[in-house]
Amino acid sequence: MNTDKINKPKNSPLYLVCFLFFLILSITLSISIIKTELNYMGELYVEKIDKVIRNVEKETILAIKNIDNCQVIEDKLLYSNDIRELVVVDNNNAVCSSKRGEIKEQFNLENDSDNLKYYLVFWDVEGKTSERTMALISPALNREGRVIISIIDRDYLIGGLFDINETNISKMLVDISGSSYPAESEFSSDYIHKISESNKYNFRVLIEAKRSFIYTSIIYAILISAIITIITILILYIALRKTKQRGNLFLDFQEGLRRTEFYLEYQPIVNARNCKVKSLEALVRWNHPTLGLIRPDTFIPLAEEKGLINELTDYILKWALKELALSKRFCNISLSVNIPPTYLTCNKNLSKLSYYQKQFSKLNIELVAEITERQLLEKSGIKTLNNLKKSGLRIAIDDFGTGHTSLSVIQELNFDYLKIDKCFTDTIGIKTVNSTVLDTIIELGRRLNVKIIAEGVETKEQFDYLASNGVQKMQGYYFSKPIPLTDVKLD
Ligand code: C2E
Ligand code: CA
Ligand code: CA
Repeated sequence: MNTDKINKPKNSPLYLVCFLFFLILSITLSISIIKTELNYMGELYVEKIDKVIRNVEKETILAIKNIDNCQVIEDKLLYSNDIRELVVVDNNNAVCSSKRGEIKEQFNLENDSDNLKYYLVFWDVEGKTSERTMALISPALNREGRVIISIIDRDYLIGGLFDINETNISKMLVDISGSSYPAESEFSSDYIHKISESNKYNFRVLIEAKRSFIYTSIIYAILISAIITIITILILYIALRKTKQRGNLFLDFQEGLRRTEFYLEYQPIVNARNCKVKSLEALVRWNHPTLGLIRPDTFIPLAEEKGLINELTDYILKWALKELALSKRFCNISLSVNIPPTYLTCNKNLSKLSYYQKQFSKLNIELVAEITERQLLEKSGIKTLNNLKKSGLRIAIDDFGTGHTSLSVIQELNFDYLKIDKCFTDTIGIKTVNSTVLDTIIELGRRLNVKIIAEGVETKEQFDYLASNGVQKMQGYYFSKPIPLTDVKLD
């Protein structure tokens, strides 16, 4: 039986979560796309109708001012674009028409509920509901019993609405106090719709979405949700893989030590005077069975965090001794090994260092412990190092200038080499604050009577500058990258 098939159901809750996420996102997005469009359209319709009525209101005000002069009303409004007919009503009698002049007609205004406010009613021209338009009822201020009815021109009203692009709308209804336009329809919808209300006048607009628009919105929403879901899954997947990889890497690390997957490369340190190689720095490498070569910058912090760094240091010392002893080509040289801060806190390790120093000494190799400034911060650390130094071990301060060593500590410590960090070598040829620091470190080394090793020398310009400023030893790609011991050439 295929084991892959057995394992697959384990992932199904994750697929379900992704699918649910996608589904919820699609639905939320569809609704929000449709709602936004309907809101926008609803407000556009309300705005258009508001504008038409506002113009009618302006002309009506003109009529109010001339309420006693029907001739003026007729002259000014007979050819009005937006008012079909304006009628002045006095206590249920129509007394003036903008179309017909002075008249005497019985007039019952049904909706005359509030005599003090402008309000809208639907108006069926000649009683035909198919000719329905709106009328603005205006109180003639200070003239009790008088009102002005401005019947809006139907073409003007409807024409104003039709220049709206209605591709996404299947139905538009206007409601005034329970009656609607178009006349036969009810102001309700069972479909996806939106009701927008005018802030100025007493009407509402109902907009119903077209089916085709809903389908396109859903398709859009599905596409956008699919993209968002894929991106989210990818981000989660990468994050999960990284966490898992780190966890796995830790287990692999222990296994790697056992299976001797770690090995050393050696980077030559040259004498500035004659460019001869008299020292090597051992740099650890991890040949991971599946991930390939892993750089120390990745696994050293992991080993430090998980408490395996001392074990690794033992491994490195043992490996270097074995490799150099077997080679027999290397005598009368120095070998630098990076000693992590925690290593020196244990007496057992100090004895080990002393042991290795003696073993290397038998091969005529001088062992140099490269320590960082971090290790110098404690008084006990300084004491231990001074004791080690007495037993023949050489000491180099690595990455000098990047830590927080106080000058008093430097003075107390009996060390042999000061390694200038690459970041200072990089400033050569560039005027920065750090280029002054570089000169100061060189001067400090001279005064303390220790040898300076400049790290990360990559160009001839850097080499020339350092050599002319009295730096005795250099290390960097300009001379050689870290290489296997078999490739190291001694002069
Ligand atoms: P480090 O001790 O300062 O080692 C020097 C690093 O700079 C090495 O990187 C080396 O390959 C690189 N390097 C040397 N010259 C140049 C150059 O001219 N240009 C550039 N760009 N780089 C240069 P590597 O081997 O990747 O080691 C990185 C760091 O990992 C080391 O810095 C050290 O802190 C740590 N490390 C390496 N090997 C060991 C080890 O065996 N034990 C411990 N505890 N730490 C180690
Ligand atoms: Ca180093
Ligand atoms: Ca360094």
